[in-house]
Amino acid sequence: MKLQQQLLQLSRRRLLCGGLAAASLGHPFLRLHAQDASRDLFTLGVASGAPRPDGFVLWTRLAPDPLKGGGMGSAPAEVRWEVADDEGFRRVVAKGSATAVEAFAHSVHVEVRGLLPGRPYWYRFAAAGANSPIGRTRTTPTETDEATRPVRFAVASCQQYEEGYYAAYRDMAAQPLDFVVHLGDYIYESSRGSRHVRHHEGGVPTQLSAFRDRYALYKTDPHLQAAHAAFPWLVTWDDHEVANDYTNDVSPRIADPAQLLAIRAAAYQAWYEHMPVPASMRPRGADATIYGTHRFGRMLDLLLTDGRQYRSHHACVTGRSASPLADCADRWAPGRSLFGAAQEAWLARELAAPPARWTVIAQPTLLAEADRKRGTDHGYWMDGWDGYAAARARLLDGVAGNKANGGSALVVSGDVHAFWAADLRQGAEQGVERPVVATEFVCGAITSEGPSAASVANMLGKNPRLRYGRADKRGYALMTLDARGCAVEFRAVDDVKQADSGVQAMARFSVERGAPGVHPETA
Ligand code: FE
Ligand code: CA
Repeated sequence: MKLQQQLLQLSRRRLLCGGLAAASLGHPFLRLHAQDASRDLFTLGVASGAPRPDGFVLWTRLAPDPLKGGGMGSAPAEVRWEVADDEGFRRVVAKGSATAVEAFAHSVHVEVRGLLPGRPYWYRFAAAGANSPIGRTRTTPTETDEATRPVRFAVASCQQYEEGYYAAYRDMAAQPLDFVVHLGDYIYESSRGSRHVRHHEGGVPTQLSAFRDRYALYKTDPHLQAAHAAFPWLVTWDDHEVANDYTNDVSPRIADPAQLLAIRAAAYQAWYEHMPVPASMRPRGADATIYGTHRFGRMLDLLLTDGRQYRSHHACVTGRSASPLADCADRWAPGRSLFGAAQEAWLARELAAPPARWTVIAQPTLLAEADRKRGTDHGYWMDGWDGYAAARARLLDGVAGNKANGGSALVVSGDVHAFWAADLRQGAEQGVERPVVATEFVCGAITSEGPSAASVANMLGKNPRLRYGRADKRGYALMTLDARGCAVEFRAVDDVKQADSGVQAMARFSVERGAPGVHPETA
């Protein structure tokens, strides 16, 4: 049986039947697990992340009562971990133990080092007689690796729990991937969308305990657990991890910075406790540094950004929503920034450095200009990049410099609950033929409902740089990079309201290395 299927069956059975049913699968780990079926500590699965040539971060959280505070009480607990270079754990190559403490919701973040580059590893945890599911992960190639092997990854965002099931993750877990990038809206603080298939417990969280329970609810999903257990993930956040459309220290609904920052501190803490990220990303109050460069040999430099923590407040609108379309001179103000000065300086340095074959800028929301107003008037969404137009111009200047150095840049984006493919050109004038400096792919949403077909058609008509758009399907993007080009596949869930829904290739594109621009592939 394939690992992914095992993981999935395991998770399903754990949820539906408790641990005893798992023993019937006959896997050695499952027999161990059954010995302590009365007290399942690993209800939230396992995860790995931040892969490097010599290791990665391993994550789990002990939570026998996941939806009500975890159930671990106040005492610390020892968690043993081991890493093997085979699925059957005959060759354990690293092991140790970590202490899970109440202050971090009994989560553990183990930074494993000393492993070999560019190969798969398997890992598991044990605590108080209980054993975790087995996870699979992978180290990155060495920095001097000549990049003969393609790099394959998935891009995901926006997984509102009530709006649908995670069939997309079931499909993703069965793909041959090196890693997954999640661009945010991993949890939603609020209800939204229509035809809910399952429900949040509690209202909009503002306290740490409520954010913990929200993450735990999402992470009990077996398909999400399967995708975490199958690959290392790189994660950033968007707005719904904290508050809808927040910018730095205010949101449309919360104008008092002290109040928003208190919520942000609780939200960032809970995010850290549930993500496979290193201790360097641990929040200090309401601050956490999570942006950075992830290298995959000489094939890929992935620049993972934080689009929320340092943002300038919305331009051109005041009040309860950034949604009414607007236009005013302020959206072009050079002092406005989506990444903040320090992150912009880091991005500029990375883009000016000798490039890998590919540079992928992983960032939350549609970068291409998008006039969204119906008719001949102009109107822009102020929570998107159009509200930060000068900062976007600075970013594209950096991308153009990277291209001039022989680099080839891709932008991967989420947030807007639609699939888009776009040619990125310097200058904002639609229809003016400036050279394409990079290619953008927006990954769609795992579950969150998107805009109407009429709205997508209007945007495609008004914005010729948007080459493809579709919002009626949920799903994710698959990216394959090699020395010659990039292949992109948008994968669409047939029916997000069904957990066992099929998932199909909906559209394919290619990008030639050194010659940016969207090339639709037929069939
Ligand atoms: Fe979203
Ligand atoms: Ca969002």
